[in-house]
Amino acid sequence: MEKVWERGNLQDLEQEVIFNGTCCFCGACGAFCPEYIFYEEEMPRTRQKCYEIFGACYDFCPRTFLPVFEIERKIFGSVREDKLLGFYRSVCMARAKDEEILAISQDGGVVSALLIFMLERGLADAAVVARKCGDWGVEPSVATKREEVLESAGSKYTQCPSLLGFGSALREGYEKIAFVGLPCHVQALRKVQLSPFFDFNKASERISIVIGLLCTETFDSTLLFKKLSNEGISPSEVKKFDIKRGKFIAVLRSGERFEIPVKEMADVERSACSFCYDFAAELADISVGGVGSPDGFSTVIVRSERGEKLLSDAEEAGFIECRELSAEKIEEVRKNALRKKRRNLKKIQKKAESLKILNLLVKLEDLERLLI
Ligand SMILES: Cc1cc2nc3c(=O)[nH]c(=O)nc-3n(C[C@H](O)[C@H](O)[C@H](O)COP(=O)(O)OP(=O)(O)OC[C@H]3O[C@@H](n4cnc5c(N)ncnc54)[C@H](O)[C@@H]3O)c2cc1C
Repeated sequence: MEKVWERGNLQDLEQEVIFNGTCCFCGACGAFCPEYIFYEEEMPRTRQKCYEIFGACYDFCPRTFLPVFEIERKIFGSVREDKLLGFYRSVCMARAKDEEILAISQDGGVVSALLIFMLERGLADAAVVARKCGDWGVEPSVATKREEVLESAGSKYTQCPSLLGFGSALREGYEKIAFVGLPCHVQALRKVQLSPFFDFNKASERISIVIGLLCTETFDSTLLFKKLSNEGISPSEVKKFDIKRGKFIAVLRSGERFEIPVKEMADVERSACSFCYDFAAELADISVGGVGSPDGFSTVIVRSERGEKLLSDAEEAGFIECRELSAEKIEEVRKNALRKKRRNLKKIQKKAESLKILNLLVKLEDLERLLI
C-alpha cells in the first residue's frame, strides 16, 4: 500500500521547501491563509509565527510531497501507462476558430477559446488566469468575461502565484471555476482538491476544469530583464515572448525579432524549476502546449472524461477545430518531456539525498524507473 498524505506545519514547509530552494512560487500556501505575503518573486513569508501543528500550507504545497498515483486514480480513475506524458485518453492539435482569439493568443488560442466557451455557455462562472501587469510582470486574475480572458491570453514566461487567484475565486463565491496553470499550479490545485484534512467549502466540487500548460521552465523576471537589457531590449518594447524550436524569442513592437538559444537561458531560469519533473501538466484535465504542432495550432492532451467532453462540446459548438496529430509529432512531445525529466530528476535526486526530502512518493533508487 502506497503511503499517501503526509502532515506538516509552517516550520516544516520553511525547512523543506521555502528555505531549501525548491519553492515554485505557485501561491498554494497563501491561497487560504491571510498570514502569507507574496511580493513580486520573493519567497513567500508570513506576517507572524504560526503555531498550528498541521498546516494547510504544508498540505497544499506541491513540493512537500506529491501522491501522483493517488491523484491519478481519483481524477482519472486509473494510473498512467505513459511515463512521460502521464495518463491520457487522446492527443490532437487544435486551434480557436475566432480570428480575434487567434490573433492575440500564444499558439492556437485553444486555452482562451475553451475558457470563453465555458463562460458563455454557463459551464464556468469564473476562470483563474495569469494576467500581464506592467511591463511583463504577471499576476493571478479571476476572469468572468470574454474581454478579461482575452486580456490574459499569451504566455508570460515568469512565475505567477496562480493559486492565490483560485483562493480569491472561492472566497468571491464562484461555484464553477475553470483554472489555467503550469504543471506546478496543477499539482497544487489537485492537492487542495483532494486534501483529506481540509474542506474549503468543498473546493473540489467548485472546480469545473483544470487546464494545464506544457512547461519546461520559467524565468526569474529580474534576471531575464537584465539579460535582455544587456542586449539593448527593454521589456516595454516587447510584444510577445515565445519559445520555439530551441530558441527563446522576443518579438518587438517594431516587428523585429530577437532570438537567444534556450541553452543560453540557463542563467536566468528560476532555480526551483529545476526540481520539477512534470513537463506535460500531467494532472490536468486537458494539457495544452506548442511543441508538436505547426505555428498557429496547439497540441492538446486530453486526460479526463471531463476534459474529453469539454473539447468535443467546444468543437461541436464551433469554438475550436481539432485535427489529428501524427504519432511522430506525439513522439516529439514525449521527447521534450523526457529531456526535462532526465535533467531535473538528477537534481531532485541530489537534493533529496542530502536533505532527505522528496516530492515524489518513490524511493530514490526507483526514480529512474519512472522514466521508462
Ligand atoms: C512559463 C511557460 C512555459 C511554457 N513552456 C512550454 C514548453 O516548454 N513547451 C510547450 O509546448 N509549451 C509551453 N508552454 C505553453 C505555451 O506557451 C502556450 O501557453 C500553450 O500552447 C497554450 O497556447 P494557447 O494559444 O492555447 O493559449 P492562450 O489562449 O494564449 O492562453 C494562454 C493562457 O495561459 C495563461 N498563462 C500565461 N502565462 C502564464 C503563467 N506564467 N502562469 C500561469 N498561466 C499562464 C494565461 O492566463 C492564458 O489563460 C509554456 C507556457 C508558459 C506560460
